[in-house]
Amino acid sequence: MQVDVVVGGGGPVGLCLARALAQQGRTVAVVERQPRTALAAPAFDGREIALTHASRRLLDRLQVWSRLDAGTIAPLCQARVQDGASPFALAIGGEADTGQPLGWLVANHRIRQAAYEAALDQPGVSVLDDVGVAALRRELERVVVTLDDGRLLHTRLLVAADGRLSGLRRQLGVGAELHELGRSMLVCHVAHARPHHGVALEWFAYGGTVALLPLVGDSSSLVLTLAPQQAAAMMALDPTAFAEEVTGLCEERLGAMRLASSRHLYPLVSSYARRLAGPRFALAGDAAVGMHPVTAHGFNFGLAGVERLAAALEGAADPGASPPLQAFARAHRRATWPLYAATQLVARLYTDERPGARLLRRGALRVAAMPAFRQALRRHLQH
Ligand SMILES: Cc1cc2nc3c(=O)[nH]c(=O)nc-3n(C[C@H](O)[C@H](O)[C@H](O)COP(=O)(O)OP(=O)(O)OC[C@H]3O[C@@H](n4cnc5c(N)ncnc54)[C@H](O)[C@@H]3O)c2cc1C
Repeated sequence: MQVDVVVGGGGPVGLCLARALAQQGRTVAVVERQPRTALAAPAFDGREIALTHASRRLLDRLQVWSRLDAGTIAPLCQARVQDGASPFALAIGGEADTGQPLGWLVANHRIRQAAYEAALDQPGVSVLDDVGVAALRRELERVVVTLDDGRLLHTRLLVAADGRLSGLRRQLGVGAELHELGRSMLVCHVAHARPHHGVALEWFAYGGTVALLPLVGDSSSLVLTLAPQQAAAMMALDPTAFAEEVTGLCEERLGAMRLASSRHLYPLVSSYARRLAGPRFALAGDAAVGMHPVTAHGFNFGLAGVERLAAALEGAADPGASPPLQAFARAHRRATWPLYAATQLVARLYTDERPGARLLRRGALRVAAMPAFRQALRRHLQH
């Protein structure tokens, strides 16, 4: 099979990229190891993705947004960050002047399903499911991709979009900075007695962070960052004991809580690839930049990368030629590295219980609460 571009990994980023490049008239093959049935109806995975205005615009253009059930999309009006029991809170958004939400919360499995449908509907995209990449051979003019089942794909450009522990990145000989953060993230839905008014709450407790992200109705996505043993203990509690523990942990912020979904655990690993592109290849999504979820930017960065790569390749006679790929790599690194580095710092600060770290946290929150900083952050999310 001969195509312009092979995208390795049919996650939300790989599928959006395939659609974006095919909209420019390219032929694209997506290679995904999950079977078609799992792509067509992905299981709930506990993740609620906070999407920025820029991400929504791109999802609109790719006709992914219109495939989401509007009744399941929750506006995020304000975010409040606190340090432990301190009454001081950094509030972003909710100022009377904008009338715009900061962003929207959409379940990851719904985004995946919509992205798969949009990719299937796009002429020029073929999805090869239930198969992985066994070997790669890069030549001057093309890449030869051998699939696990022996099929051969000939392409001008290979894009690795197979997640933060990307096997393709390794096969391409690209290193990555990997940080195992020694914490796990437990995510689930909770129903609560009091309304959230569209406000996301995040605070430091228990040697980790607790976040409540507003969903439709009187329910929220609970996100607990915990040491692995604590996380395992919370997973083992029966639903009633879990609800009691969580109600106590949330200190009555939203009243009594009830577990309203399955619980999911993610070990926290962040990663940043040493190169974002090279001869006849590029990296996309988490394979390029695997953000710590605390700043809710992983998928938003993934979509920004889709837009940048598509813009760099627009009109290029050869999509695997060096100049557009290098332009993409420079632009994507410039746009993502500062927030990646800052997020690593915040994540470390928020899991350190030494007195010095506590003082720094309080200081950092007060600096961040200055009007100029808050407005800049709000503009960034709403841009
Ligand atoms: C708890 C949690 C909360 C989050 N919240 C947010 C948020 O609020 N906002 C935000 O922007 N981001 C958030 N993120 C990050 C977001 O989920 C990721 O950035 C996004 O899923 C990355 O998409 P991707 O397509 O790059 O990778 P993935 O979703 O990891 O998809 C990779 C795909 O590649 C396939 N694959 C892997 N290996 C192979 C192989 N060898 N061959 C073929 N296929 C392969 C996999 O099956 C998978 O389908 C969160 C993440 C977590 C864990």
